[in-house]
Parts: sequence; structure tokens; C-alpha cells
Amino acid sequence: MSVYDSDAEKIRPLIIGCEQKVPTLSGEMKPYINFDNAASTPSFKPVLEAINQFMPWYSSIHRGAGFKSQLSTLVYDKTREIVLQYCKAEPQFHTVVYGKNTTELVNKVSKRLMTADDEFVLTTRMEHHSNDLPWRYHQKALFVEVDEKGRLDLEDLRRKLKAYKGKIKLLAMTGASNVTGYINPIYQAAQMAHEYGAQILVDAAQLAPHRPLDMKAQDDPQHIDFLVFSGHKIYAPFGQGALIADIAFLEQGMPDQVGGGVIDIVDNDYAYWTSPPDKDEAGTPNVVGALALARALQVFQEIGLDVIVEHEKELTRYALQKMKEIPGITIYGSDDPQEVDDRLGVITFNLDGYYHAFVSAVLTYEHAIGVRNGCFCAHPYLKRLLKVTPEQNAAFEQRLKEGDHSDIPGAIRMSFGIYNTKQEIDRFIQALKDIKNNKI
Ligand code: PLP
Repeated sequence: MSVYDSDAEKIRPLIIGCEQKVPTLSGEMKPYINFDNAASTPSFKPVLEAINQFMPWYSSIHRGAGFKSQLSTLVYDKTREIVLQYCKAEPQFHTVVYGKNTTELVNKVSKRLMTADDEFVLTTRMEHHSNDLPWRYHQKALFVEVDEKGRLDLEDLRRKLKAYKGKIKLLAMTGASNVTGYINPIYQAAQMAHEYGAQILVDAAQLAPHRPLDMKAQDDPQHIDFLVFSGHKIYAPFGQGALIADIAFLEQGMPDQVGGGVIDIVDNDYAYWTSPPDKDEAGTPNVVGALALARALQVFQEIGLDVIVEHEKELTRYALQKMKEIPGITIYGSDDPQEVDDRLGVITFNLDGYYHAFVSAVLTYEHAIGVRNGCFCAHPYLKRLLKVTPEQNAAFEQRLKEGDHSDIPGAIRMSFGIYNTKQEIDRFIQALKDIKNNKI
């Protein structure tokens, strides 16, 4: 066992459900391998412990006068401090707005952005739909292209910022791709955006669980203006995401949702909005969710980001090496085991001649290995990587309209978490070989 697997052995006891066995078609119960961490990670045990400790004190916050309400309010406010500190944000400029996930919070910013008729949001062709569609549907979006391998085209970014100088209000880009795992040069992009008068929003849904976050000081040209991520991808349960944003931005305009909690005064014919962050958290907030998210960030720090990064790089290197030995495998994005510094442990591939849904079904029902298949909520990006022609695309869309979902372009994605091991990769590689040898 390598030094890195020994890290995983230390981390596994911190994870809920790591040792679960699941039924397979042969009738055998097999230890479950979760290689779908890019979708959601399991939760940390210390998160559950923090929730259990808090539950007897749980009470509605802010306006409650009782002891428990005051305590809950303190806990809730403290979670914001933890999130700000984790992201190296500046409390005098930034605040945390909670929502249920990245999608909701990107939508919040996109609805709130007050753009003039001739202003745009620049996003990229490698986005998850959650950081693509909100810009297309609530704003006027422009797109930065990607190259053949799916890497962001930085020249195109500069070209577009220059061509639309002063007209691009925001650059909204992912910190890391949920398909190829590529980590984007967000600080370089931030500097470019600021140079041309735009702000930058980073969708850190994939980046946050794998690399340290640093919003940097406001006077640093490389600072990040908005950062968004989801708790369920960073070892907290579902239902809580965080947006770290400029207080001055949030003070402007009307909240996207109105109701209790967002006002200072209401009369028959007017309402005065309260200050951020409450202005953007209509209704009773999810105090338990905030606590869980903040505790997960603390556990991350307790384990050590450097340990996490190194362990995941080692897993990625090992998996790529082993996968490349399998004949007839196509890996999308970089397949170079030496290029693991600027990518995550997200590997998207196809086995030539095998339909992606078939492979993932065999992995599930024969081998107890959970992966994901399809287009990963990044249709434009995946179709580009798969080199789907316009004719193929039209034919596939026609089939979908007719209700035929049987031959959809797609791929298989495996994605690592901090608790995965090389032994699990070995089982996965053997499973792929068995599929190739028709041993299913
Ligand atoms: N952005 C990226 C890069 C993602 O990978 C995902 C989810 O997979 C999202 C946004 C959306 O996250 P959520 O479903 O938590 O809103």
C-alpha cells in the first residue's frame, strides 16, 4: 500500500457509509465503490456529530427572542465566518448568502445583475448547465471557446474581453470542469476580466472539494468577486450551498425572492429591503444545513488540503496509467498521467464499441461500482469532446423528440473523492477488462 492509500485509510473512518456492501446480479453482496463524487460526496461523520449536538438547541433564528433562538442565531452567524475564512474572503467587503445549491445561487446572481441593454455576461463553452443557462436566459451571454481537448482558450477570452471592452459586466466561469476535470486559471482570468472592467464569478462546485479556495484581497487585481459552491459535493449533506459576494453588489436592486426576513419595513404600498445577507435569504433559513457545510469545511482543514490534493493526484495518475493500458479506451481531455497538477480526479471516457449506459450498468450490477454516464449536464461541452457532427446532433435531437432515448451521445465518468483507494481503482480496471473480454 502506498503512502497515499494510507492517507485514505485514515480518512475513510471519517466518512459515512464507506464500508457499505450492495447487491449484485450474481447475488453476491460486494463492497460498494463510489466513483461518482463529482455528483455528490458522502458526508463526514463529524458533520453528523455536529448536527446531532445542535439538534436539541435547534430553533428558528433572528426574530426569535428565546434562548434557543438566540443560540441558533449565533451558530448560524458563526457559520458565515467559517465560510468567509475558508474562502479567504474579506468580511468588510464580502458576505455569505446561503441557498440550496450552486444552481440556485448562480441564478440569484444572474437575476440580480443589472446590465444595460448593450452589456453582456461572458461565460465559457465548458460550463455545467448551472453556470451556462442562467446567463443565457436572464442575461445576454457570450461564450469563450475551448480547444480540441476541451481546455479553455485563454486567447479567445482575451479577444472577447478586448472586443467588448466596457460591455462585459461579468465573466462567469467554472473553477474546474465536471467533465474533463480541467482546472481553469481563474486568477489569470480574474486579472484579465478586471483589466477590461468586468467582474468575475467562479463556479467552484467542482473546485471547492479538491483545491484550496482563495478570493484574494479586493485590491489584488486577481481577486474573485463572486464564488459559489455546494455543500453536498464537499462532504456535507444535500440542501446547502454558499455564495460569497460583494456586499455592495447585494445592496443594489431587489431580492430575487421576497417574503419574510428580507425587509426592514413593510406598509400597504411599499417595502424597504433589509441589508445583505438577510435580504437574499427569504423565508426561514436552513440553519442545520449551514452548520453542516461549515463543519465540513473545518474537517477539510483538519485533514489538510495538501494531503487531499496529493492523495487525489496520486489516484488520478494511477487510474490514468492503468486505463491507458486497456486497448480501445478513449479518454476525453487529458489522458496524460503526468499532467495531474491542473486537473481533478474526474475521468470521462468511453470503451470503443460499447454503449456508455451499458458499461455503467455492468459496473453497477456486476461490480458494485457507481459511476455516471450521459452528458453530465454539460451538453455543449461533451458534444464538442465527442466530436458530434451537426448532422448527428440533428438526428439525435429528432430521435429524442420522438421519445427514443436509446442511443444518446455520451460517456462514462469516474470521479474520485478523498477516501478512494488504489485498490478500488484496481477493481474498476479489472471490471473494464472483464467487459472488454465479454466476461459479464
Ligand atoms: N457547477 C458544476 C461545475 C457542477 O459540477 C455542478 C454539479 O454537478 C453544478 C454547478 C451544480 O451543482 P448543484 O447541483 O449543487 O446546484
